Amino acid sequence: MSEGSAMRILISGASVAGPVLAYWLNQYGYRPTVVERAPTLRKTGGHAVDLFRPSLRIVERMGLRDAVLDSEVGTERVTFLMEGAGPIRLDHHSALGVTSSEHVEIMRDDLSEIFYDATRDDVEYVFGDSIASIGDGRDEVQVTFERGSPRSFDLVIGADGLHSNVRGLTFGEERAFSRHLGGYVAVATVPDHLGLSAEMITMAVPGRVLSMYSPRHLDEARAIFMFRPPGRLDYHRRDTARQKELLLEHFGGIGWEAPRLLAELDRAPAFYFDEITQLRLDSWSRGRVSLVGDAAYCPGPAVGASTSLALIGAYVLAGELAAAGGDHTAAFPAYEREMAGYVRRARTYAERMVKQVIPGTRAQLWAGAQTMRLVGALPAPLGRALSKRVNSMGVHENIEIKNYLGSLDGHHRGGRRRLPRA
Ligand SMILES: Cc1cc2nc3c(=O)[nH]c(=O)nc-3n(C[C@H](O)[C@H](O)[C@H](O)COP(=O)(O)OP(=O)(O)OC[C@H]3O[C@@H](n4cnc5c(N)ncnc54)[C@H](O)[C@@H]3O)c2cc1C
Repeated sequence: MSEGSAMRILISGASVAGPVLAYWLNQYGYRPTVVERAPTLRKTGGHAVDLFRPSLRIVERMGLRDAVLDSEVGTERVTFLMEGAGPIRLDHHSALGVTSSEHVEIMRDDLSEIFYDATRDDVEYVFGDSIASIGDGRDEVQVTFERGSPRSFDLVIGADGLHSNVRGLTFGEERAFSRHLGGYVAVATVPDHLGLSAEMITMAVPGRVLSMYSPRHLDEARAIFMFRPPGRLDYHRRDTARQKELLLEHFGGIGWEAPRLLAELDRAPAFYFDEITQLRLDSWSRGRVSLVGDAAYCPGPAVGASTSLALIGAYVLAGELAAAGGDHTAAFPAYEREMAGYVRRARTYAERMVKQVIPGTRAQLWAGAQTMRLVGALPAPLGRALSKRVNSMGVHENIEIKNYLGSLDGHHRGGRRRLPRA
């Protein structure tokens, strides 16, 4: 990096972690570039994600709280249909009040768009491209792209999700770091034939759970299939025909809306299918390359509330870089130390959640139904105290958010000097 110029930081991935990281790096005077494989910001498909109190504090510091609240999914009621238990109806806010004192549910694509809009004027975004190679230079990193011309950067950060390209190029094969938690999840965009405004319906039989909800601002609905078969399934990650076949095999006989939703799969404008796997890397950084969000520490899609983890991780990584005056040899280990405890707790939480969200036996379904009845009957603070004892659900709540910006002074921005730590 030449004296007096801001550090150039390449970020791969423009979903949650990428734009949040770019926002804060820009605030600290760095020059982020975000490269996103998709040709435009993703606006079809996606699913609802959760922001808990600590991540909402960061959103607030970005001046985006109102934008996020305006885009809430708006679920008011959750109805559970369980074999042998009869329908259980819960007020969504009191049910969520059990896990968190403050919570927003928002579609991931809406959240990405909010972060993108907040950064697009100050940050360079390159859509429709992907990193092809990352050099290992001492002073800077030479990067080649699948489409664009080669460029050099001071640092490269992978914010490109569970199947991260940057992680693959830098750390090697995913299977060395991933651990299957036994479940599978699929999401399809389907017509809202039930007219589900403000309601989510979930139907469960042992080992299989089918849910449907419709965000209040969209005409369509999402069907979510989650299941835990006895063994690991044989399919290719890009073979959607086989994935739909697997859903037919596992959900064909469960009743309720399953036949109709399965019939919609071939017409679905967006379809997602993946294993519920957890990443376990000893370190998320190597040389001038680091990872953030799902790319680094996905605790398991759909069971780990990992959006909060991604958002907080991006904030901490940018903050530690600023605090170390751009010295990545100090900042990357500080970022890892700061996040390690939270990541560990999130992994344990996700391992437990996969079994709770997809109960494997009739007895587990029955126990789940009793817990829900109790949750519906208790005032939220009591429910929270109970679930903390039973479930360690405070995992996404009890995170202290440092105020890195508070320790900046104008002369120290741009990665030139070490900043006092918050
Ligand atoms: C089915 C499902 C349900 C979920 N439910 C919840 C939930 O209820 N609550 C919750 O908090 N979280 C949930 N999550 C998890 C949540 O979606 C992720 O934790 C969050 O989106 C992570 O953000 P990220 O930015 O790290 O990665 P991602 O959102 O995965 O984004 C990665 C980005 O990188 C891009 N990319 C990929 N490869 C490349 C490449 N080669 N070059 C450039 N760009 C690339 C992708 O296009 C994408 O834009 C769910 C996830 C799934 C899959």
